[in-house]
Amino acid sequence: MSEEIKNEDLDKQTEGQDEFEKVCFVCRRPESKAGRMITMPGNITICQDCMQKAFDSFDQNGGPYGLSVNIPGGGQGGTDLSGLSNIPGVGVINLADLGIGNREIPKNQRVKKKKEKEEKPVFDRKMVPPPHKIKQMLDEYVVGQDKAKKAISVAVYNHYKRVFADNADGVEIEKSNMLLLGPTGSGKTYLVKTLAKLLDVPLAIADATSLTEAGYIGDDIESVVSKLLAAAGNDVEKAERGIIYIDEIDKIAKKKNTNTRDVSGESVQQELLKMLEGSVVEVPVGSNSKNAMVPMATVNTDNILFICGGAFPDLEEIVKERLTKESSIGFRAELKDRFDHEENLLCRAELEDLRRFGMIPEFLGRLPVLVSLEALTKEFMIRILKEPKNAILKQYEKLLQMDEVQLVFEDGALEAIAEKAMEKHTGARALRAVLEEYMQDIMYEIPKDDNIGRVTITRAYIEKTGGPVIDMRGVMRLGVQA
Ligand code: ADP
Repeated sequence: MSEEIKNEDLDKQTEGQDEFEKVCFVCRRPESKAGRMITMPGNITICQDCMQKAFDSFDQNGGPYGLSVNIPGGGQGGTDLSGLSNIPGVGVINLADLGIGNREIPKNQRVKKKKEKEEKPVFDRKMVPPPHKIKQMLDEYVVGQDKAKKAISVAVYNHYKRVFADNADGVEIEKSNMLLLGPTGSGKTYLVKTLAKLLDVPLAIADATSLTEAGYIGDDIESVVSKLLAAAGNDVEKAERGIIYIDEIDKIAKKKNTNTRDVSGESVQQELLKMLEGSVVEVPVGSNSKNAMVPMATVNTDNILFICGGAFPDLEEIVKERLTKESSIGFRAELKDRFDHEENLLCRAELEDLRRFGMIPEFLGRLPVLVSLEALTKEFMIRILKEPKNAILKQYEKLLQMDEVQLVFEDGALEAIAEKAMEKHTGARALRAVLEEYMQDIMYEIPKDDNIGRVTITRAYIEKTGGPVIDMRGVMRLGVQA
């Protein structure tokens, strides 16, 4: 019986070991960096460098018998030192006895082994659909924003072409990192999330406001790569072809008229430059802080697609100013207030406007694809409620269908929901909150009565002047007072 338990324990210990690299217990470097590991009693692994250092210091201190040990390198499958205990006068401390073995490095801090060469590549160019297919796939989830979807589809397709391109002819394709401009809740994050899901590549989302220059309180820039590595299940190769989305990028605009050091604005843009372009960064595995106890991995950001997004609230004013100035020169001078009521001024933004907003030219230079999203109108909001593959209305319909109840929304009700959501000024994000407020009672009350066959949400119910219309499984139709 105890034998069985032991075997089970052993299985648990070795489970998934082949998948992950061994990590040196002392310097925390993985096997791919530190070389072959020596297995100590208690399932502890130590790299040859650290082991040699330990013996050297032992040597210098004149061990009891002046014993000098050289670690044999390159042995197949690492070196097992447990046999040392057989040498007279040499005692090997079993670290497991000291309880150190229990401090095994958790899986989320270990790097996955690189795949063997002969294995079929998991990701190749043929797996990236052409732009029109990418757009078609996006269409199923993201309503409208046609121009943005088209621009993103082309940029992503080109990006992965670049990843697999052969540079032998000297023609190097530039990176197609993107900058998304669009009001809050217009679907920037949603678009990127959907894209990553459809392409089946890892995605890390970071908030530019939390990033600070290295050494200051906050997350340093490399922490976003660390996040991506975690999203890729600690598989460096997979992370290296992933997507990093940096939201609220407008918040790191250069501060105007400041004499103090701008640690969260201009300097963060400066630090991001190298990473956007492509550089090799050392990141902690399974943690967002570097310290001696966390293993490190090397990630090359050259093939990572960076997408930055922001609402750029005052940019419209800057665009308006420029357009007014341009159109007031010459014979075709136009009225000063011509652009006052124009919606979607963000769509007319140019690099010069962004520079005036406070983004540094070098930073903008590394985001060559500029994509603007349209502001959401009431009609847009209604479509978002109804049309996407996983639309919120479809989700509620499905939930009630499970109770064999049909859920119907009158057109007026949808309009009223959209109107209420618009009042919150948080874009489509408000739709779910508004709907939830009204659906909670319905979801609570309906399952009480098995005879209910249909619920119709009316404008009056949303405006709190009436109730939903309830149809019983027979023919009877009841109007419920709010
Ligand atoms: P942003 O990043 O621009 O502030 P989000 O991407 O977080 O906005 O959008 C908020 C939510 O609104 C998303 O989770 C999504 O459900 C919904 N949404 C926004 N735009 C669209 C759209 N065009 N099509 C479908 N859903 C959308």
